[in-house]
Amino acid sequence: MSREKRKTIKVQVGNQFIGGDAPVLVQSMTNTPTEDPVATADQIKELYDAGSEIVRITVNTREAAQQVPAIVSRLEKLGVDVPLVGDFHYNGHILLSEFTDCARLLAKYRINPGNVGRGEKHDENFKAMIDCAIKWNKPVRIGVNWGSLDQDLLKRMMDDNAALADPKEAHEVLIEAIVESAVQSAAKAVEYGLSKDRIVLSAKVSEVPDLIEVYRRLASRSNHALHLGLTEAGMSMKGMVASSAALSVLLFEGIGDTIRVSLTPEPGEKRTQEVFVCQQILQSLKIRAFKPQVTACPGCGRTTSTVFQELAKEIEEHLSTRRQQWQQLYPDAKDLKVAVMGCIVNGPGESRHADIGISLPGTGEEPRAPVYIDGEHRTTLCGPNLANDFIKLVDEYVQTSYSKTKLETSTIKDG
Ligand code: SF4
Repeated sequence: MSREKRKTIKVQVGNQFIGGDAPVLVQSMTNTPTEDPVATADQIKELYDAGSEIVRITVNTREAAQQVPAIVSRLEKLGVDVPLVGDFHYNGHILLSEFTDCARLLAKYRINPGNVGRGEKHDENFKAMIDCAIKWNKPVRIGVNWGSLDQDLLKRMMDDNAALADPKEAHEVLIEAIVESAVQSAAKAVEYGLSKDRIVLSAKVSEVPDLIEVYRRLASRSNHALHLGLTEAGMSMKGMVASSAALSVLLFEGIGDTIRVSLTPEPGEKRTQEVFVCQQILQSLKIRAFKPQVTACPGCGRTTSTVFQELAKEIEEHLSTRRQQWQQLYPDAKDLKVAVMGCIVNGPGESRHADIGISLPGTGEEPRAPVYIDGEHRTTLCGPNLANDFIKLVDEYVQTSYSKTKLETSTIKDG
């Protein structure tokens, strides 16, 4: 079953493209105070090194706006070339007008139409930000969030609904208002002179079924590129599972041009986790490949030892360690599939489907582990060095199977 990506208008953001025929991009956001350019630039580097293709920073105060040039200059020194997005709420019209270097150096502005002022000020402030985008030739993301939905629009829609003979549920009106806020704001931006290929939309909510509904409606009513994300996804497993559930349904329907997983980090946990989760979602859906994958069985009563769990973990860690080196030498090794299986029931079958797989002995089986390479039984391992022997075979497989890429790489380097 193949997934057909929805056709959207391609938007250039710094050195990246969102929408159109561009790959679905991975985004992230810093949580350092933007007023601290060293901490912020260093975290951007961490996110970039992890694979974030666009990074957003909050620009919430004059001091923060003032530090944007220092952040950009430190990133240049660190060799980080990633588009920086400024996240604006309440005072974006002031900051973008007053701090011209900030407006010039950011690659995109995120505008929340629910946080640009009320009444007449709403349109005035929104227009001021769009004018800046036009002046500096920047794209914007019109980012609706249900926690800060345009209250005037919601009230109008609730009032209209109440006047109907058969009013809809309030929740249904809320969902519709979220979609309308994005669609109407995009139309306003175009009316103010911003080109359509300068607009990305998002409309984030924190419940999975609502997010799916909102984006299906957005996708059916607009051909703007869409940024997907479950807002306030939560911590660790809950955040990852909820985000994966929501994003997977939409991505598989071809909806979504860029994604973010808004995880709350555990105390002391690195911000990079959200990047890895995005990559894993895209790789699990076979939309993009980022790193070699390990298929491991869950184990059951047929495995009385933890050998195969330990081996699966060792392999996973080894592949992570090798990742950067292989990215340089064997970029195609990101497609590598390794299987580590617990017994004879599914072991040989699953191992044959992988590029390289090992089927460990289950309880009562002979203490021997057949290894399959490209679907063929190649050798059988046993003894205390089994883990290291298998890791060696994985390394050899990468070196021989992806050596053409290696040669091409060194030819380019040498030439
Ligand atoms: S492969 Fe064997 S050990 Fe693994 S889950 Fe299946 S039956 Fe259990």
